[in-house]
Amino acid sequence: LGAFTGPTFNNHDFTSYAPDTPERALLSQALQDLKKSGPQEVHPSKKGQITGQLTATQKCPFDHGTAVARYSEATPEIVSDAIAGALEAKKSWPKTSLVDRAAIFYRAAALIEGPYKYKMMAATMLGQGKNAYQADIDCVAESVDFLKMFPSLAETLYKAQPPINGYGVWNRTEVRPIDGFVYAICPFNFTALAVNLVMAPIIVGNVVVWKPSPGAVYSSWLFNQIMIEAGLPTGVLQFVPGDAEMVTDAAFSSRDLGGLHFTGSTAVFRGLLARIGSKMDTWKSYPRVVGETGGKNFHLIHPSADIRHAALKTIRAAFEYQGQKCSALSRVYVAASVADKFRSILVAETNALSMGEAFPDFIGPVISESAFKRVSGYIRDARDASDIEVLAGGEYDDSKGWFVRPTVVETKDPRSKFMREEIFGPFLCMYVYDDKDFGPELFKLIDETSEYALTGAVFANDRAAIIEATEELRFSAGNFYINDQCTGAMPGQQPFGGSRSSGTNDKAGSLDRGINTFSPEGRLFQV
Ligand code: GLU
Repeated sequence: LGAFTGPTFNNHDFTSYAPDTPERALLSQALQDLKKSGPQEVHPSKKGQITGQLTATQKCPFDHGTAVARYSEATPEIVSDAIAGALEAKKSWPKTSLVDRAAIFYRAAALIEGPYKYKMMAATMLGQGKNAYQADIDCVAESVDFLKMFPSLAETLYKAQPPINGYGVWNRTEVRPIDGFVYAICPFNFTALAVNLVMAPIIVGNVVVWKPSPGAVYSSWLFNQIMIEAGLPTGVLQFVPGDAEMVTDAAFSSRDLGGLHFTGSTAVFRGLLARIGSKMDTWKSYPRVVGETGGKNFHLIHPSADIRHAALKTIRAAFEYQGQKCSALSRVYVAASVADKFRSILVAETNALSMGEAFPDFIGPVISESAFKRVSGYIRDARDASDIEVLAGGEYDDSKGWFVRPTVVETKDPRSKFMREEIFGPFLCMYVYDDKDFGPELFKLIDETSEYALTGAVFANDRAAIIEATEELRFSAGNFYINDQCTGAMPGQQPFGGSRSSGTNDKAGSLDRGINTFSPEGRLFQV
């Protein structure tokens, strides 16, 4: 089943979409076409048939008066039909050889790189509020990466160590899908994360019931169509957009729930864990759970750092895609001796960021009205607090789109809520530490205020400082970067995930997440 030698995996190149390039012209055309054609129609899969009334809307965050898509929400009957269809497909999908499964994955990658490229980008830009660069790294590069790397990861799994053979005994280990279906709940912020959440289980023979994010319905549906066109058999992937509570209730009412593959908020994940735990006697098997949740990610700037480099990387980590990455930076610790220089670059460059339309501006809107209210609420609280100074930004305007200007504040209280709570928007809090505290004092402070542990970075040229920070902060970040921004993990290069309130510490983009978790193999524990 697993005999297969696929092409060597390499990460996909990025494209710049610079003015006057053919790529830019093609992308502009796709954006115009999408705008002109009006709201797209999206329906759940129901035994492969299109069905239902268009009851819900995905609004365009750049202009919330317009809809990107109108979709029919799944009903409990549609969800149970989807589960039944998935379980039916389960009878044959695991028996399909890895070569044949891989062919479908490579074909889907080729469809994204070819005929669907600009359509996917336009869907992700207008639907999820991205600029061209952010859309390219997400729905082209990272999505293609996942599709191309999963077959080779599966191959490695299938070749996993056989057990010891006793005298006259031949033992073997087989990698099989879980007994039941996998329920995947996906976030709005990366189209590629949906690709990871649904396709990692599928490569090893699982079937998946997929609840896309309401903020990413159209790009998710396009990906679903691409998988159908690539030849994924009916039922293997069941697309069920709809009310989160209702779809989850319906999915959890099946005793065949074999796994939950989740990326989203900490609060929602905790609720799901509690619900799974409260129904332990109803499941056929204990559901396997893989979750990646929030972050309160940090940069630590040592006096020996290249300050301009550190300040620019800080801006990128905090404000690319409006800070709406789980990995996004939201607190920065700066040594007092370099703070003036760091602060002046940070403020000048943040003020220079242009905000507006997907082309040509760098900063777009936040995803929704509730995100706008949350982030602007933190800005108001910062303005009202006596020990906080607003250094840059602080303005917001939702008259057309949900726009919040990239905001930098400085606090004297390293334990303030701005240094601890996830804000998930373009909001960065800076704290200046005494140079002499770099060491146990500072590491203890960072660790104690790290309820989350997703990403972090140290900027330093002093080798001893780098080693010390890397060692001492290992439990405060699942992904730790040295002289690089704490966002932008690439599949295969920086397997992504964290512990504490950030998730189950499984690593997306490696053998260690999804693909392995939904097989009977054990898994490595990484911090
Ligand atoms: N993998 C992405 C990064 O490293 C973040 C994914 C997320 O937001 O969950 O920036």
